[in-house]
Amino acid sequence: MNSRTVIIGGGVVGASVAYHLAERGAGEVIILERESQQGMGSTGAATGGIRAQFETDINIQMSLYSVDFFKSIGFDCGYEPRGYLFFATTVEQFAYLTANVAKQKSLGVEGVEVLDCSDIRKLVPGMNCDDIVGGSFGANDGFINPIAVMDGFTRGALSGGAQIRLNVRVSGIECSGDKVKGLRTDDGVVECDKVVICTGAWARDLAATAGVDLPVEPMRRQIVWARAARPLPEMLPMVIDLGTGFHFRPAKGSRDEVLFAYPDPDEVRSFERTLVPEFVAKICATAASRAPFLGEAEVMLEKCRVGLYENTPDHHAILGGCDIDGLYFANGFSGHGVMHSPATGRALAEIMLDGGAKFLDVSCLSIDRFKTGKLLHETAFI
Ligand SMILES: Cc1cc2nc3c(=O)[nH]c(=O)nc-3n(C[C@H](O)[C@H](O)[C@H](O)COP(=O)(O)OP(=O)(O)OC[C@H]3O[C@@H](n4cnc5c(N)ncnc54)[C@H](O)[C@@H]3O)c2cc1C
Repeated sequence: MNSRTVIIGGGVVGASVAYHLAERGAGEVIILERESQQGMGSTGAATGGIRAQFETDINIQMSLYSVDFFKSIGFDCGYEPRGYLFFATTVEQFAYLTANVAKQKSLGVEGVEVLDCSDIRKLVPGMNCDDIVGGSFGANDGFINPIAVMDGFTRGALSGGAQIRLNVRVSGIECSGDKVKGLRTDDGVVECDKVVICTGAWARDLAATAGVDLPVEPMRRQIVWARAARPLPEMLPMVIDLGTGFHFRPAKGSRDEVLFAYPDPDEVRSFERTLVPEFVAKICATAASRAPFLGEAEVMLEKCRVGLYENTPDHHAILGGCDIDGLYFANGFSGHGVMHSPATGRALAEIMLDGGAKFLDVSCLSIDRFKTGKLLHETAFI
């Protein structure tokens, strides 16, 4: 058998890994996807925010790489640099944002700056800023179209010789000693020498079939989509309350449709993907108290989205191999998998073909960190 790599999961991450492997001429590359079409997992629920305003070097660097990629790749991924505004309601939060901006600049992020309260009033006219101490704004942060990114990667992978098989569910990984030898699927056994688990929130159980504990937990994330009663401020960016994580943004290309979300502390580990009316009421009340222009918004139930975040204990991805020869992970993006998909695909291709990612040192994202205790720390997850 020639070298055969199977990518389990055809979301944005699996598609990017396939694209980058095919681009490198990595032998036979096959994506196995259990659904009858791609985008039925988290990728189809994502709203497509992209930002370099993170705390850790690795998240900032992954975003920098990915923004450049989105700007220059040959397919339209809908990149729109609308900006992200983080605002602080305590002096400590403001100090945190200020330190982050200094770090982001030192790593090469352009267009990021510290704002005082009067700057914020001008940027988001009409927002209640009475409790705001200051904030940070990243002009190159903004929006992309998750499905367009996934489709672009898939087309590129297929034209590079990769294949995709839909309606094939993988139930287990077969090993010979400490080496991958194939996959059990509902379409029979598929022999292969390399496997990349790209099954998002559903990764943990699959990894367990190879005896690996992959600490990825599913967590419901609800996005409430509403029509504002009054026109939104012109060029409204993504606006995030650092203290609570509550955020709102305009729908792409709209002056009256707006999206609300936040990391609800009442959510627990779950594969549940239904919209909760109490959550909708709670977030609409939060929105109304933050800005009169968000008050009396009419919820557009047909456009609300519910999907799963794939969280790790330190809210960073798990990239690379493990003790089983031929088994690799691209998981645990904790809400950043679309924006980091370009860097992820390239990192996996270089790890698998060259023994390590050369364009960016991603070794801090290895699964080994959960054994060594060298976890990362990111406060600005939303
Ligand atoms: C509401 C919401 C908003 C978000 N907003 C953003 C955002 O603004 N920006 C951002 O960067 N990220 C965002 N995210 C996170 C982002 O969606 C994910 O990180 C990203 O989509 C992960 O991609 P993936 O390909 O790993 O997973 P998925 O898209 O979930 O794909 C996994 C695929 O694996 C398949 N699969 C699962 N098990 C099996 C099996 N046993 N056999 C075969 N196939 C299988 C599934 O069917 C699925 O197609 C958001 C997520 C949610 C839920």
